[in-house]
Amino acid sequence: MARAKVSQTRVSKTPMTTPTKRIGIYPGTFDPITLGHMDIIARATKLVDHLIVGVAENAGKSPLFSLEDRIKMTRREVEDHNLPSVEVKPFNNLLVHFAQQQGASVLIRGLRAVSDFEFEFQMAGTNQKLAPQVETVFLMASESYQLISSRFVKEIARLGGDITHFVSDFVASEVKSR
Ligand code: ADP
Repeated sequence: MARAKVSQTRVSKTPMTTPTKRIGIYPGTFDPITLGHMDIIARATKLVDHLIVGVAENAGKSPLFSLEDRIKMTRREVEDHNLPSVEVKPFNNLLVHFAQQQGASVLIRGLRAVSDFEFEFQMAGTNQKLAPQVETVFLMASESYQLISSRFVKEIARLGGDITHFVSDFVASEVKSR
């Protein structure tokens, strides 16, 4: 009885904290979305409560697929993988501004090889200066997906190769139809 009283007192003295929802952004061109991207998305869902896959308009990169098509394919992949905490949104402003607009505190980037490091290092450093409250987290895909890139997928498809090892059947058929 006495014990119960003590624990009640302790509970009432504990400050009330509202758990904050951790929002992450995984930005990219996704031209098109690959199994490597999906692997990173699935991993990122374990780190944040809500993940926004930010599809960059990125006109400077002259993507093969329009922004609408990239969004459509990415949404379809997310649905097929049954990931309810993931949302797909377009953006065409500065990444850190997009992150702030969405209330995100984490930026997710994938690292494939040493070759990615230089660029990612610069980008993370720049974003840290622009928005110190937003942290960049790097994830590695599992070994079998690490070497996949959208660029190689498009090149292999252009030369008539089989891309079904690298993208879903749906994305493969969209790429082949180009
Ligand atoms: P970006 O134009 O920003 O490079 P991408 O769509 O090519 O957009 O890639 C988005 C992110 O996903 C980048 O951080 C990239 O390094 C990462 N990524 C792409 N493919 C893979 C992969 N196979 N394994 C791990 N990370 C990957």
